[in-house]
Amino acid sequence: QMPDSEHGYLFFAADMNQRARERHHLEEDLREALHRGELLLYFQPQFELASGKMQAAEVLLRWQHHEHGMVSPAKFIPVAEETGLIHEIGDWVLETACATLHAWLERGIPPLRLAVNLSARQLRPKLISRVLELVGQYQLPVHLLELEITESVLIQDDAKALALLESLRAAGFAIALDDFGTGYSALSYLRRLPIDTLKIDRSFVADLPGCEQEAAMVLSILRLAQTHGLSVVAEGVETQAQLDFLRQHGCPAVQGFFLARPMPLQDLEELLLR
Ligand code: C2E
Ligand code: CA
Ligand code: CA
Ligand code: CA
Repeated sequence: QMPDSEHGYLFFAADMNQRARERHHLEEDLREALHRGELLLYFQPQFELASGKMQAAEVLLRWQHHEHGMVSPAKFIPVAEETGLIHEIGDWVLETACATLHAWLERGIPPLRLAVNLSARQLRPKLISRVLELVGQYQLPVHLLELEITESVLIQDDAKALALLESLRAAGFAIALDDFGTGYSALSYLRRLPIDTLKIDRSFVADLPGCEQEAAMVLSILRLAQTHGLSVVAEGVETQAQLDFLRQHGCPAVQGFFLARPMPLQDLEELLLR
């Protein structure tokens, strides 16, 4: 058995080394990405189901790497979070979103609410003064900014994070709870949470309408939201059947590839001007 496990270990070690190297490169490149201007924002519209109108767009970060092409945020956001680079990157996302809204107002483009994703690490007292500074600097009505946070932030029942969200909400920003349903304990906390919108995680939407369990989950989220006076956005809508199901059960809003993929700014502006 010995030679085998040794062999296995060597492979494992080589793999670890390779991964550690890749990871190190990624980290170094990410540090440079902002200064090289390799980061950009994509936008994915959300539609009100009853009217079919665009109600907002989610801001999604993209990294156009000088050698490797597009790098997925699923790959680099975790690295940014672990290294603390998320503060600088997150600030860039917030400021660029605000600058975009400002430009629309200046150019007479009908503005659309923008939903910006925040990592848990960004939820610190500094954030409040910073977003207030940005809306002041770019002369924005606060209701044009929505902040998306994931359920995991609140499951820890972190009093500081809760207080922070309360202040943001008191200042007029809309708060959306992202990937809702994936950390089920939040269901019971919902009443106490300073939030406006639930975003149903796309894993629940994916199996609609066929899978009874997922369908029941979506229905209970819709009912729960109604009870608590919360809005809902179903994420990851990819088919007509999913859309029909959500419409039939009174889901207020939807987002997903079936309706619109994340798109560059120019494409979104064309939609806004249409
Ligand atoms: P998320 O916040 O849950 O964003 C939604 C993700 O689902 C996006 O992936 C979007 O492209 C994808 N999506 C939208 N519609 C569909 C659909 O119909 N089907 C499928 N299969 N996928 C769909 P993306 O852009 O790759 O972003 C991945 C994650 O990276 C985001 O998940 C979010 O957690 C994070 N992220 C993106 N931008 C930022 C940012 O600026 N700041 C932070 N902190 N995180 C970000
Ligand atoms: Ca999100
Ligand atoms: Ca989500
Ligand atoms: Ca997510």
